[in-house]
Order: sequence, then structure tokens, then C-alpha cells
Amino acid sequence: MASQEIEALSAALARLPGLGPRSARRAVLWLVKNRERALPDLLEALDAISQTLVECETCGNVDTINPCGICADVRRDAKALCVVEDVADVWALDRARLFQGRYHVLGGKLSALDGIGPEDLNIASLIDRVSTGEVDEVVLAMNATLEGQTTAHYLAERLEEHKVRITQLAHGLPVGGELDYLDEGTLAQALRARRPVG
Ligand SMILES: [Zn+2]
Repeated sequence: MASQEIEALSAALARLPGLGPRSARRAVLWLVKNRERALPDLLEALDAISQTLVECETCGNVDTINPCGICADVRRDAKALCVVEDVADVWALDRARLFQGRYHVLGGKLSALDGIGPEDLNIASLIDRVSTGEVDEVVLAMNATLEGQTTAHYLAERLEEHKVRITQLAHGLPVGGELDYLDEGTLAQALRARRPVG
């Protein structure tokens, strides 16, 4: 029977995506064995993150500065806006360095089943950004899931009245696929083949 502290750490790690109770116990065991070497780095990194992490008020990305590094980067094309469901999608697209514009994170997708409506997502702030007239193109980069595509259609309708070109990732994406899990080749192809909605 492990101590209360070790159990608490195991339970906390077991809540992380991709880790179950077994993997969490193995991670804890490894940390206990390597505590002098591994713990200080981990503690420092966790502390730094918990102190500095903020949500970008412009795009909804998570970074250590607000506006985030992407919004603050003047070399990026302010005329192109890529709308994604989650922060992980920004990171996936930006890791591949495929898109030179800026992003807008919805914070989820429309879902009748989960009771998530337009007012629950960062849609009003998206319309605000487009209303300034500085944006020429909005790329709807939703996941190729039913709810992702429903969200894209809804956004396309809402954006229709604005003078902006609306494009969507091509359906080279696997059905049911999520951006975060795609290889860079598939992502690149889908982004290159984006096309007008409707
Ligand atoms: Zn930002």
C-alpha cells in the first residue's frame, strides 16, 4: 500500500489523456526512482506553466503572453484567419508551418447532443474580428466529423453578409478524423486544396 501522497499523485496523473491508472502508477514509480534527476525539472516546468499560462483575448489560443505569440507576430498575414475548434488544432497546424495567417479558436463545436449552442463558443468574437474589415479570407478548419461540419456550415452562414472569402479544408481528411492526429502530409494537402464553401 503506497502512501497517501503517492496515491494522490497517481490519481492526478491517471486523469491525463492517454494515461490510465496503470500507466500513471508506472510514471509515479519512475519519478520516485529518478526523483533527484527528474523531479526538479518537472516541478519547475509545472510551476512556470501554472504561473504564466493565459488565454489570448484575441484568438483564444493558450500561451504565456496575451496577445499570444501568433497574434503578436507582425510577420503573419492579418488578412487570413483560420478558424479551428480547439487549441490543439492551432498547435497542429502551426507545428506544420503551413499557414501564415492568424487563428481563431472556437473552444469546441456545435452539438445538439451535448447542448452546445453558438453562444457557448467564441463565435461573437470571430464575427467582431471579421467585422473590422481587415480580414480577406476565413478558412474554416473544423474537424471532418458531423458536428465539425455542422459548425462550419453554421459559420459560413453567419459570415455570409461580410465581405470575406470563406474557404474550407478539402475533404482529403479521413472521415471522423481529428486535425491533431493527422500527419503533416495529409494536413498540407487538405490546406492547399481548400475551396469556397457551398
Ligand atoms: Zn492570439
